[in-house]
Amino acid sequence: MMGLDLFFGPSVERGPRDNRIYLTFDDGPNDGATPAILSTLATSRAPAAFFMVGEHVRRFQALAREVVAEGHLVGNHTYNHVKLTFVGRKKIRDQLGKTHDEIEQRTNVRPRAFRAPHGYRSPFLKSICMDMSYTVFGWTFGVFDTARPGVEEIRRRVRKRLRKGAIVLLHDGDGYDPEGDRLQTAQALPGIIADARNAGYEFAPLTDLLDSRS
Ligand SMILES: [Zn+2]
Repeated sequence: MMGLDLFFGPSVERGPRDNRIYLTFDDGPNDGATPAILSTLATSRAPAAFFMVGEHVRRFQALAREVVAEGHLVGNHTYNHVKLTFVGRKKIRDQLGKTHDEIEQRTNVRPRAFRAPHGYRSPFLKSICMDMSYTVFGWTFGVFDTARPGVEEIRRRVRKRLRKGAIVLLHDGDGYDPEGDRLQTAQALPGIIADARNAGYEFAPLTDLLDSRS
């Protein structure tokens, strides 16, 4: 999609076509799903990336710190889950800057990865992200886990769509509701990890794809 890339700037949507895949969780932290997901990732020794909403980081600071302490990548996902395609440069810069500061203050880590809510990018994003030294990430596939289709259904959808180098989009939070229920995703995760390993895939940190192009 070169034409869109020229307009919106590059985004990493898939890794190298080998047996490594990348777990990502958006819209947290969330005090229901995030601890359960962290626990599964620790037990399974699987790395992940968490694209956090700034407002939720402010609300659940200890959880944001825990994600970092567990060694996972924390990315910027705007402050209020704003659809960037429809807003101006200043608002985009504010949304990214506020979230950057919130994450850095609460976790002592400077985020280097950004993902646009709903994947709605903007022509302004490229220069803003270059200034902030961010790599912009998309995803290879999502499974509509936010619609809560059932634990087994979430697991089945991931299993069916897995492919080499996939960046898998899941959700540990709700972009618009800090109390949103993402427990189905958390409960599906052990099965998702087992299925992927049984199919010969390995989980790699999204950090490996910083500064890359898909
Ligand atoms: Zn989101």
